Amino acid sequence: MALLKSWVESANSADTQFPLNNLPYGVFITEDDEAHCCVAIGDMIVDLAVLEDDGVIAVSEEPLFDLPFLNELMDAGKETWDALRARLMELLAEGGDDALSGDAELISVAMVPREGTEMAMPFVVAEYTDFYAGKHHAINVGTMFRGAENALPPNWLYIPIGYNGRASTVVVSGTDIVRPNGQLKGPNDDMPRFGPCARLDIELEMGAVVGTGSEMGKPITVAQADEMIFGYVLLNDWSARDIQAWEYQPLGPFQAKAFATSISPWVVPKAALEPFRTSTPPREKELLPYLAEPGPMLYDIDLEVTMQPAGADKATTIARTNYNQMYYSAAQQLCHHASSGCAMNSGDLLGSGTISGPEKHERGSLLEISWGGKEPFTLETGEVRSFIEDGDRLTLKGVAQGDGYKIGFGECAGTILPAVKL
Ligand code: CA
Repeated sequence: MALLKSWVESANSADTQFPLNNLPYGVFITEDDEAHCCVAIGDMIVDLAVLEDDGVIAVSEEPLFDLPFLNELMDAGKETWDALRARLMELLAEGGDDALSGDAELISVAMVPREGTEMAMPFVVAEYTDFYAGKHHAINVGTMFRGAENALPPNWLYIPIGYNGRASTVVVSGTDIVRPNGQLKGPNDDMPRFGPCARLDIELEMGAVVGTGSEMGKPITVAQADEMIFGYVLLNDWSARDIQAWEYQPLGPFQAKAFATSISPWVVPKAALEPFRTSTPPREKELLPYLAEPGPMLYDIDLEVTMQPAGADKATTIARTNYNQMYYSAAQQLCHHASSGCAMNSGDLLGSGTISGPEKHERGSLLEISWGGKEPFTLETGEVRSFIEDGDRLTLKGVAQGDGYKIGFGECAGTILPAVKL
């Protein structure tokens, strides 16, 4: 696969995250303060509601895009996704259908610069489930919490383990995050107390966005699960480590993860990621047959985390890794999620679990980077950190590198505000 050329010049740069090959979907705020579904191309945003209203795209009898969410498109299913992507390719390709490129008036109302345009949550999250499928992360955290001997729980190599999180606090990139309060009890404390989290952290993850659902009582195969996924986002599962350490046994995280989860504004469609498919690593224990993958189900996506304290003039890269490090794919996770007969809904969001590689610079959480606070690190601007301080801005980035082009996810950023005073 090579760069597909567009008449939108900025989409033909080898550096843009949004060439014609990508066409990620989102929701943007129009000049009239409405929220419309859109697609990104180069430096521009294309208003899909305008194109639909004009009759230039007609992939559904019901209007899909004059809405503040992508859910109608997601629920419409793969045939509609494919038809829309094919039509957008025709309209935006160099030498393609000139219904948009040849109509200056339509361009003036349907296209706006991406820079300076406010993005909204791309879809209404039905439910949010977070997994724990990165082996290097699980070993690092397990070693810190339970010792190297018991680092991986006995189920880990058999089950993509996860917990049901909160959809209510999934927010779009750029949303400020208030430091949570919670119950805290240090190892030497006699009694717990209630106060601001002192060990606030990120988790570098990818989110799989479920497009079409499954019925209660009807398990699905890994191949069916893969077909149900509409696309992927960057996901930061903000985590309060001190709250988590006290509350997590035996039912897992609760308030430590419930206060915020950030996602990128762009949902990269699965079709754009096809050239980057790659296999999960070799199995250490043979999986039960229902979890066997029929083909490569992971993606080769370079990931990066930056940290910028308030007042610092630049952000420092604190981690670089790749989505291909995951032990389980999103398709396996979705298959497992439905295996009991649990119904999956259009709009469900599945967090991959923290993505860490084997090397120190590949750790996808501050807990790992500072090894539980024992190894503070210094930013390029001089500040020393173990966990996040008020005013710090954390940004995740993700790019799949093709032959002369990139497929990018934009960014997933959030700045920490002080805790609510008690
Ligand atoms: Ca997580």
